[in-house]
Amino acid sequence: MTALFGPAGNSQSFQEMGYKKTIQVPEYLSRLGLDIYEYQCGHGVRISEAAAKAFGEEAQKRGILLSVHSPYYISLSSVEAEKRDKSIEYIMQTAAAAHAMGADRIVIHSGSCAKISRDEALALAKDTLKRAQHRLDEQGMGEIHLCPETMGKFNQLGDLEEVLELCSAEERFLPCIDFGHLNARTLGQVNQPEAFSHILYQMENKLGRERAMQFHSHFSKIEYTEKGGEKRHLTFDDQQYGPNFEPLGELLAERGYTPRVICESAGTQAEDARVMKEIYQGFLNQK
Ligand SMILES: [Zn+2]
Repeated sequence: MTALFGPAGNSQSFQEMGYKKTIQVPEYLSRLGLDIYEYQCGHGVRISEAAAKAFGEEAQKRGILLSVHSPYYISLSSVEAEKRDKSIEYIMQTAAAAHAMGADRIVIHSGSCAKISRDEALALAKDTLKRAQHRLDEQGMGEIHLCPETMGKFNQLGDLEEVLELCSAEERFLPCIDFGHLNARTLGQVNQPEAFSHILYQMENKLGRERAMQFHSHFSKIEYTEKGGEKRHLTFDDQQYGPNFEPLGELLAERGYTPRVICESAGTQAEDARVMKEIYQGFLNQK
């Protein structure tokens, strides 16, 4: 096993290379030498069961592993019980699509803490996630890992400690460590070897080495402001905000970590995923 790399949704190059349909994505990814793909349901789960099945079969044929990003409007920590119940429904819709395409990970935004304390938000989000897991088990979809994501804005639930705390609620949960988000919400503190190393250490400490090693992640350079944190996703051409992947790639290779690393660059996510894969493999070969 090694770390695996791929994009969130499609790069501009997908169409530029003459591809049109989602079913062609696995072929495109294997041409680029990539391993994984995060199917985007950020604006709602719209794919039919038949289309999801066909897409999953094509991905399996090409050896591409799949995850699904759940809708952005999910609110695990809403103060309104009805909104939390609805969020579980959206997770179940995402899970049904994931299940049909053979995806075994769902990424979920951790929530907001705009109206309540961070501790209250964390307790609500934890309870909602546990209830979602219960529903998954009831419906025979227990193979799917729910992955709460570290978020980039100050007023969002989801700094590293909060995501690790959410994951401690159930042994199948995996953290989705979005390094660009963590860098944005700390105004540039997550951009050197010590910071990356500390994140891996905290993960191992809280979740154990075996679970920590297979974490899910998002990696992209993200612009941020002192007022709110995350502003917008950039590409690897950015030299100002970061983070840079090299120090993390070296740590992953050195320590034998096997995460799935999804790139969310703006428009060049497949190309930038390929860059990360090459950097990582360079370090692997030096071992
Ligand atoms: Zn996300």
